[in-house]
Amino acid sequence: MNTALVRKRLVIGNWKMHGTQASNAMLLTGLCAGVAVVHDCDLAVCVPFPYLGQVSASLHGSGISWGAQDVSKHEQGAFTGEVSSSMLTDFGCRWVLVGHSERRTLHGETDTLVAEKALAALKAGITPVVCVGETLAEQEAGRTNEVIQRQLAPVLALGADSVAKMVIAYEPVWAIGTGLTATPEQAQEVHAFIRAQLSELGVPQVRILYGGSVKASNALSLFAMSDIDGALVGGASLVTEEFLRIAAA
Ligand code: PEP
Repeated sequence: MNTALVRKRLVIGNWKMHGTQASNAMLLTGLCAGVAVVHDCDLAVCVPFPYLGQVSASLHGSGISWGAQDVSKHEQGAFTGEVSSSMLTDFGCRWVLVGHSERRTLHGETDTLVAEKALAALKAGITPVVCVGETLAEQEAGRTNEVIQRQLAPVLALGADSVAKMVIAYEPVWAIGTGLTATPEQAQEVHAFIRAQLSELGVPQVRILYGGSVKASNALSLFAMSDIDGALVGGASLVTEEFLRIAAA
């Protein structure tokens, strides 16, 4: 089976910690009005927790799905400040980012914790988007594959049935929010490395997104690569036209 044929393109916007109810309303109205230009692509936004209600009300029935940017590994209890996967389900979330580099770096999230969060999401029927990626120093030291393998190990250890329901996002840390993008060939090389690990587990059809300063001007060349199944988009997802043009690429 040619797995490239069964892997539908997926473009997810990561709003990070941006937005107000007023600015969100403009963005969401624009997305709903313009989504018709997007074909053969799943389109989604991952938004700050307080806006999930607004986003679910605005996007319901639009064909655009939504999710969150983090989730607790715990189901419920005395975990002040945390948000559980069942709470995300309550707001109709289809996706949740886990292990974004900003959470790994700024909040000390370990590879094991990321896998635990992915499992918590799966248990609630939410697709975890597991983010992996190397720093500039690691890339320059030729350690990219080693780092990706280490980050993925506890996730892959959850087993084929679990991993089959996930999405992987390769986001080189040096390309996030910096304006620097991996060349399509550089990204493809890492995606192929990830695909090989997924194939070894028996789940080659899992979608692998690229993230790191994706814009309308570079989306097409990235999407032309055989193992790049879409994008995780930060900054450009806050600009309606730009985000839609990426998804339409
Ligand atoms: C991200 O936040 O996941 C991201 C890829 O950001 P940017 O597109 O701004 O580099």
